[in-house]
Amino acid sequence: MRGAVREQVPLGPFMHLRIGGPADWLLEPYAEEDAAAAVRACRDFDLPLRVLGGGSNVVVADAGVRGAVLHLGNLNRIVRDGNRITAGAGVTLPSLLRATKEVGLAGLEKLTGIPAMVGGAVAMNAGTRDGETFEHLLSLTVVDEDGRIAVWGKDRFRPIYRDGGLGRAVVLQATFELVPDDPKAIFERFSASLKKRNASQPVSQRSVGCVFRNPAGAAAGQLIEVAGCKTLRIGGIEVSGLHANYFVNEGQGSAADFVALMVEVKKRVHDRFGIELEPEVKFWGF
Ligand SMILES: Cc1cc2nc3c(=O)[nH]c(=O)nc-3n(C[C@H](O)[C@H](O)[C@H](O)COP(=O)(O)OP(=O)(O)OC[C@H]3O[C@@H](n4cnc5c(N)ncnc54)[C@H](O)[C@@H]3O)c2cc1C
Repeated sequence: MRGAVREQVPLGPFMHLRIGGPADWLLEPYAEEDAAAAVRACRDFDLPLRVLGGGSNVVVADAGVRGAVLHLGNLNRIVRDGNRITAGAGVTLPSLLRATKEVGLAGLEKLTGIPAMVGGAVAMNAGTRDGETFEHLLSLTVVDEDGRIAVWGKDRFRPIYRDGGLGRAVVLQATFELVPDDPKAIFERFSASLKKRNASQPVSQRSVGCVFRNPAGAAAGQLIEVAGCKTLRIGGIEVSGLHANYFVNEGQGSAADFVALMVEVKKRVHDRFGIELEPEVKFWGF
């Protein structure tokens, strides 16, 4: 594999929450075929493998994770072909949105404000009330279960709510089919959703977005707020005063604090409403 292979690398700096101990191995391949080689090598050496995107939906344990973490930040090309845009898994959504806006291609502005990489947005089928990642997705290039590079068309897609249904496949790049529109109109929609988000979510603070899934017919944030948990704090992690389904790291928070706060909030919501909240966030190394 061409690329960087490093041992005992702290994951905190890669995570949106800025929390997390070391990975035994951090693999940063240069190109698609190197990523596939890394996946095959982990399989051959029986090393557990996790794929890290922008780290905006993962809490890593304070003791870190055993095995390898694959980071695809070098797969960062954006290529346009007519109304189609192909982006590497390591492209950040904000830079992809900027690019599509500039060339007058509409659709992805529904994802405004999600701090993901393209690979993570596909894996999670990230979305907002206005739409989801898979809506404009035409094809995916992946490393499949057998360690081979494959192109998946729509017939292979199995997305559900906040889950791209990829199984163990690793996304290398995604091609979106977009709709031509006036860049000014796209920019206005983009700005309007950003404004709405800035007013209702603690976007400038360290978090993992929504901690719990919305239970059927209810908003987790509202349940947490009514259960009196806003600004509840354990160690360095606090339930946001702006949006109660966001837990923010006030600086010195740990993964242990985060989990303890989740347990407490879950208990209070259960005591008040009899509803079991389920996590939306993923946990590594627990
Ligand atoms: C401030 C804030 C706001 C947010 N708002 C929203 C929102 O409005 N809507 C929403 O849906 N989410 C939101 N999120 C959550 C998060 O941004 C999404 O879940 C996003 O899709 C995660 O992408 P990521 O690149 O950061 O992935 P990571 O957090 O790094 O990983 C998430 C999952 O994707 C997998 N993964 C990552 N890259 C790949 C790849 N290349 N191939 C295969 N699997 C991969 C990981 O293994 C992991 O299981 C928000 C988060 C924050 C911090």
